[in-house]
Amino acid sequence: MGQHFLLSPDCRTLTVMDLARITEAKAYAWFKQARWFKTEGKPYCPDCGTLRCYGMTRSRFKCSDGACKKVFTVTSGTAFAFRKLSFKKMLIAIWFAANSVKGKAALQLSREIGVQFKTAWVLLMKLREVVAARRETMRIDSEVEIDGKYIGGHVRKKNKAEDRVDRRLKENRSPDRLCALAIRGRAPGSPTFTRVIQNEDGEAAWAAVRDHVSRDVTVYADEHSSYDDLLGLNRMKRVNHSEAYATKEGYNTNLVESFFSRLERSYVGIHHRFSMKYLDWYVADVAWREDFRGRANGFQTKTLLGLALNRPTSRFLCGYWQGNCPPDLIWEKPKKDDPEPS
Ligand SMILES: [Zn+2]
Repeated sequence: MGQHFLLSPDCRTLTVMDLARITEAKAYAWFKQARWFKTEGKPYCPDCGTLRCYGMTRSRFKCSDGACKKVFTVTSGTAFAFRKLSFKKMLIAIWFAANSVKGKAALQLSREIGVQFKTAWVLLMKLREVVAARRETMRIDSEVEIDGKYIGGHVRKKNKAEDRVDRRLKENRSPDRLCALAIRGRAPGSPTFTRVIQNEDGEAAWAAVRDHVSRDVTVYADEHSSYDDLLGLNRMKRVNHSEAYATKEGYNTNLVESFFSRLERSYVGIHHRFSMKYLDWYVADVAWREDFRGRANGFQTKTLLGLALNRPTSRFLCGYWQGNCPPDLIWEKPKKDDPEPS
């Protein structure tokens, strides 16, 4: 068996030692390169697109187009708009976020880079939202495995044994728990699609497969009845987990189970609890890590920075601690008169 990737030098192309040495100007150059990658770091106007811009101050640019005259910075209109941290500090924070294989806790990051918990939390949430957005255009072209996992809604054990209930029974489960639906491509490099739903049900699975999986690929699922409807959509192979984890033909859903096991360990070992409100972003974050786990940490850091600088400013996280806050991120069935997605 080959050496584990994380034991090889190829995984550590960028260390915190490297970042500790760079200057603020160098960190700024990283941002410019990631934001204006099409022009190799040369600024262009975010409104009219012209390259005819001039620097007003060290970080502010102005568009020379007579009708536009837009004033902008490297983070204007991106996920990092209205930043208060230095570029170097942000870069190091992104490195810490990318480098943690099972997720990053905000309290830990706040100690590492010396910022308030709230600052670290919002920064990490912005990165999760950015990563979650890659699902919008995700389409998986290889064989896929689909499954759901219930998360959260902890029911505390009563002190006295006679007061305790069987928490495996449906009536004793917490009403707050949610289901993470995951579709994982089998081919190397295939992405993992996730979506948080109220219950593991047919409609949610059907909509996810319809919109994010190619029609001509085989879908592997367990015996849960919510996947029965997928039969009319794609070719299906089922495995009955009450009998075996893999059938004698070799049908299994082990890959998607392995994603859930990583999710579980992220929950238990890093975050201790996921806010159910943001569960969708946490799950998408773990999926991103799963998909990029075989890439060098320098590449992961640059990718994350690039994604954040090419996403519009969050409607939800900008001014979060001033009272702005997203709605629950739970998928809802499209209403009857909603247009079909193209
Ligand atoms: Zn302009």
